[in-house]
Amino acid sequence: MAETEKTAGQLLAEQLLIQNENGAAKLTEEEEAAADRFCEPYKEFLNTSKTEREAVSTAVAMLEKHGYEPFDPSKKYVVGDKLYYNNRGKALIFATMGSRPLEEGVNLMAAHIDSPRLDLKPNPLYEDTGLGYLKTHYYGGIRKYQWSALPLALHGVVAKKDGTVITVNLGDDANDPVFCVTDLLPHLSRDQDKRTLSDGIRGEELNILIGSRPFRDDKAGEKVKLALAKILFDKYGITEQDFLSAELNAVPAFPARDLGLDRSMIGSYGHDDKVCAYTALMAALEVERPAVTHVTILADKEETGSKGNTGMDSRFLDYFIDDLARPYGVAGHTVLSHSKCLSADVNCAHDPSFPDVTERRNVAYLGGGAVITKYTGAGGKNSTNDASAEFMAYVRQVLDGENVLWQTGELGKVGQGGGGTVAMYLSGLDIEVVDIGVPVLSMHSPFEVVSKADVWSTYRAFCAFIK
Ligand code: MN
Ligand code: MN
Repeated sequence: MAETEKTAGQLLAEQLLIQNENGAAKLTEEEEAAADRFCEPYKEFLNTSKTEREAVSTAVAMLEKHGYEPFDPSKKYVVGDKLYYNNRGKALIFATMGSRPLEEGVNLMAAHIDSPRLDLKPNPLYEDTGLGYLKTHYYGGIRKYQWSALPLALHGVVAKKDGTVITVNLGDDANDPVFCVTDLLPHLSRDQDKRTLSDGIRGEELNILIGSRPFRDDKAGEKVKLALAKILFDKYGITEQDFLSAELNAVPAFPARDLGLDRSMIGSYGHDDKVCAYTALMAALEVERPAVTHVTILADKEETGSKGNTGMDSRFLDYFIDDLARPYGVAGHTVLSHSKCLSADVNCAHDPSFPDVTERRNVAYLGGGAVITKYTGAGGKNSTNDASAEFMAYVRQVLDGENVLWQTGELGKVGQGGGGTVAMYLSGLDIEVVDIGVPVLSMHSPFEVVSKADVWSTYRAFCAFIK
């Protein structure tokens, strides 16, 4: 049977209106297969990059395999040169030199590699009624009730006074023990059930259970704590005071998994924002001899406001650009002022179980492609970068030119809440910036959900931007 001819109304709608049917197959079968293939190593990246330090190590190993070398500020780089700058093991900048002069600006991609979690307090180890615990201070925006009754792993470092730094990675190997925050049984939760959800588990109740077996010596006090301290000393050579100079993070102790009967999604800890870090990194590795130099930043501290010397509100990017441009006799600010940036971060996806918090005409849908977010913030566009109409038009043209599947979305209804990204710090350097990334369900939970189609489309958006 021949294809039915379109009516005048259908043709006019195609010409004038946004075509946006939710639930429709948006990618071809071949594209879906490519998305599935792309996401296999992404899951591995998630598993080996639960903290910012681990993400930097993983990324540096990948960069070195592709010929990237540590940045040398005295060197005048030429087209095709690949370099990286490791900022304290917690943030990373890498660049591939283009053929156009630097004073015409660079193409920037910026994502963050820290994710919400439970950090150990400086003095965390204690014993209470025969059980051993670690006190925590949560990092980033978490819903505290989601972090109890869940297997946790401990990742991070302990720096000793003699200068040695010990890496801790315990709980993710199948042979490792795990840890957890306990919760009440429903039989005895009558009073707790009356608390508000935000108060269901309180900050000072997020204590991690780590042991219960006492040290065998009737004369010793706090025998469980002592026995645990001995295990830590035997395994890592650390004493209780060494916790003061440590960064230990409790993160969910399970790997990324395919989600759904159709395996169309990935459930994992840390998609925000490893999903944009990974897609930007893969795009950067792909584009080897660009016209315009491309620079990728993987920043730390976004989840706590981008402050600190490894966060995007620090000067390390403009210092790097200064150093990169100096051998050419070009001022760093000249490069920045002519640069374009995709601030790569996730946005919320519409959740059909909680439809009231989003506005259905201005929200991203899972499977609808990379989401462009013109502005974030809260209330009357407080604390945000609001991308210019001209730059939005430029990005539309770039993505449509490569047939990238994309959509736009706001972070929820006006007045419902809000959030921010690194975009405002980059635009503060006089760079043209817009947010783009992957829509996420259950964002900031221990098990965030993304669509493989969106992960792949975001990767393709970055490729289109820097090619
Ligand atoms: Mn984020
Ligand atoms: Mn976040």
